[in-house]
Amino acid sequence: MADRTPAGHDLADAERAVDALSQGEFVVLADSRAEDASASLMLGAQFATPERVAFLSKHAYGLIRLCLTDERCRQLQLEPIVGGGDEWRPTVSICARGAGPTGASAEDRALTIALAIDESKGPADFVQPGHVFPLRARRGGVLERPGRTEAAVDLARLAGLMPAAAISLVVDDRGIVVSGDRLAAYCRDHGFPLVTISEVRSYRRAHEPLLTRVASAKMPTAHGDFRAVAFRERVTGAQHLALVMGAVADVDGVLVSLHGECVLGDVFRTTTCSCRRALELSLERISAEGAGVLVYMIGAHESRRLVESSACSGRPLAIDDFAIAAQILGELGLTSVRMLTRQQDGPGLDQFGLRMLERVPLASMSDIRDADG
Ligand SMILES: [Zn+2]
Repeated sequence: MADRTPAGHDLADAERAVDALSQGEFVVLADSRAEDASASLMLGAQFATPERVAFLSKHAYGLIRLCLTDERCRQLQLEPIVGGGDEWRPTVSICARGAGPTGASAEDRALTIALAIDESKGPADFVQPGHVFPLRARRGGVLERPGRTEAAVDLARLAGLMPAAAISLVVDDRGIVVSGDRLAAYCRDHGFPLVTISEVRSYRRAHEPLLTRVASAKMPTAHGDFRAVAFRERVTGAQHLALVMGAVADVDGVLVSLHGECVLGDVFRTTTCSCRRALELSLERISAEGAGVLVYMIGAHESRRLVESSACSGRPLAIDDFAIAAQILGELGLTSVRMLTRQQDGPGLDQFGLRMLERVPLASMSDIRDADG
């Protein structure tokens, strides 16, 4: 798969990273592809031999962090350090009991990592502090928190490895964090695949079943009779609605529309945005065809923000929304679609397992405004 979307996501980069990790190779995990984004060199923890730990120290920074699942940290009684950065949850450092006198050699650190991922070992097998610095990932991984710890654990799991990774910040021999063009050159020179946190998130959304169908009911509307099907995202709890008309399963070129919730426009019909009109036009078009699906992507809103953003509270749909919408459509049995849209380019559904036959212009923004007027 090598679809590069205009959003800049390339699932192929995540694919390459997963492949490399599964073979015990190093990859570089970056916060983003921004010029100043920092990155870590990472390796599946189960491959952390003394040689590879030495390599990690030599080619990154030397402080070796061990990304572990929340569950494993609980087993090892590794609690996040209070005041140690709530967001990224470092725990007290550890050393394998029985390691050498300093615990700092590559051999000692490899032993510490090996014991930390060995389910038969418990808190009594470690002393604190040590020279391996655990980080405690959130349970929902990168879908819960788009952080490097979570992305590292997710990547290891996606590669079919134990869900644990050794990482080390990429810093040069002058102590300067390597980023941008220098990071790209670093990856090229060493042959390390580069992957970003958001690419890991998109990869998960594209490959994992993330939805539960929670309810379904008939829903007559001014635009005809639909069936409303409610879905919930398992990790985030976000809920979405699909309005389905007619036969759509295994039908070629089903008309579909994705709509990002806009409370102010959709519900209160604010005259400052065209969301409500776009929603109605979509339902009309589907109704005119006698078949189709409108996916209503519900976002998280704070009432304060809603009022402050009085122009439009519509959520612009991101690449991840397309991944979720594609799963909803897949659940409903759709395989090939025609997508109603206000844009002639932008993310599509084709990279998430659906055949997209065409983009059907919903109407230009000016048409919608005229119709409003
Ligand atoms: Zn709006």
